[in-house]
Amino acid sequence: MAAVAPPLATQEQIAKYEPVIGLEVHVQLGTNTKIFCSCPNEFGAAPNTNVCPVCLGLPGALPVLNQQAVEYALQASLALHCQVRPSSIFARKNYFYPDLPKGYQISQYDRPVAEHGWMDIVLGDGTKKRIGVTRLHMEDDAGKNTHDGYRDSDQYSYVDLNRTGSPLAEIVSEPDMRSSEEAFQYLTEMKLALQFVGVSSCDMEKGHLRCDANVSVRLRGAEKFGTKVEIKNLNSFRFLRQAIDYEIARQVGVLEDGGTIHQETRLYNPDLDETAGMRSKEQAHDYRYFPEPDLVPLRISDEWLQRVVASMPELPADMRRRFIEVYGLSEYDAQVLTQTRALADYYEQVVQSSGDPKLAANWTTGDLMGMLNADGRQIELSPVSGARLGELIALILKGELTGKLAKEILPKMYQSGEAAPVIMEREGLKAISDSGEIERIIDEVIAANPKQVEQYRGGKTSVMAFFIGQLMKATRGQANPATATEILKNKLG
Ligand SMILES: [Zn+2]
Repeated sequence: MAAVAPPLATQEQIAKYEPVIGLEVHVQLGTNTKIFCSCPNEFGAAPNTNVCPVCLGLPGALPVLNQQAVEYALQASLALHCQVRPSSIFARKNYFYPDLPKGYQISQYDRPVAEHGWMDIVLGDGTKKRIGVTRLHMEDDAGKNTHDGYRDSDQYSYVDLNRTGSPLAEIVSEPDMRSSEEAFQYLTEMKLALQFVGVSSCDMEKGHLRCDANVSVRLRGAEKFGTKVEIKNLNSFRFLRQAIDYEIARQVGVLEDGGTIHQETRLYNPDLDETAGMRSKEQAHDYRYFPEPDLVPLRISDEWLQRVVASMPELPADMRRRFIEVYGLSEYDAQVLTQTRALADYYEQVVQSSGDPKLAANWTTGDLMGMLNADGRQIELSPVSGARLGELIALILKGELTGKLAKEILPKMYQSGEAAPVIMEREGLKAISDSGEIERIIDEVIAANPKQVEQYRGGKTSVMAFFIGQLMKATRGQANPATATEILKNKLG
């Protein structure tokens, strides 16, 4: 029996230490087929149906590298600002586990496809920080063991090899993060960038994005890193934060109790919100890496790399900066509008057809997203296209609609899928800019409210809002507010 673990550290004790965190992220690349064979790379098929001699590791079967997987790995590398190596090699990483039929994983070791990158993050208080990316390498995925869900799961575990051979990019960060929030932001930003580029859905629930964290603590001011512990099973953003915070408190608790930290792998248990020791951490030599004899070195010609560079879309961080600097948006709006590539593309359409980036942002993040959220719909399924929302805004700018009328028309566009002019025509909705007609209605309003006229003339100018309100009521919101205010001021003297 192990000794009773010391209690978790108090906030006061934790404050004396500095956490040091690095992340290892596995991203499943969204290719049609697996990395070394032509089996479908898909989620959710019946167990052991997407398999062949190559991914089952049968004797004599030879791997052939999937070019699409390499292109995706290159795009991911560029999204993380890594330098791509002209030549990299695959290596065998040997270990035994029931979900690994070959008895080794084909990975990359001392010559990964890319290295020396970075990712900028923005923290909650607005602080910016650059996190180093050590390397990105390609490898094949293992299968999956299932320990429950079957009638005889108390006696047996099942193995599904559909995932065996799916292409992965493993992205290793520098130990640059100092809090669970920094780790959270780093993973968030990476996920967004990879989704924008389109190399992976990064769906954590499907295991397309998996994360392990290396955590150590050292006394503030100390130079030497503490002993690091690897935490596995961080399969949601919330668990990532919770597990790191727990592990920091555990390690400081051990040190404050006079103990030492052992290099080990710990598993996060979300039900208990704690980490538990799994095994002592393997060293690289435990895997007996050696160059994969069945694959030639991967050579990336300059021409190939330039083609991939040219195919890269704008990255979310660059897009946010452009929205702020060129369109004059707030940091917040820029953040909201780059949550997904589809939303950003939609917004750009609204800007293009309205000609007003700020109004485009207001209408997209406000009215439109409000309706989509209420419906549980993604922007891709919006019944109002970006071009049509832009057209609606342009009608306001031209004075053909008032803001109030436009707010009435947008839900109708959403319901029917019709363009704004069609609804305006049918329902006779149009801003009244004709000053003669507005004047006539204003005369009526003034005649009907002598008391307020007296108040206004007596110096109570706030009554103006009352008159505008009455006018809008009389015109069903169709009076052009600028014209109306001007006429009212004249009439009231
Ligand atoms: Zn296969």
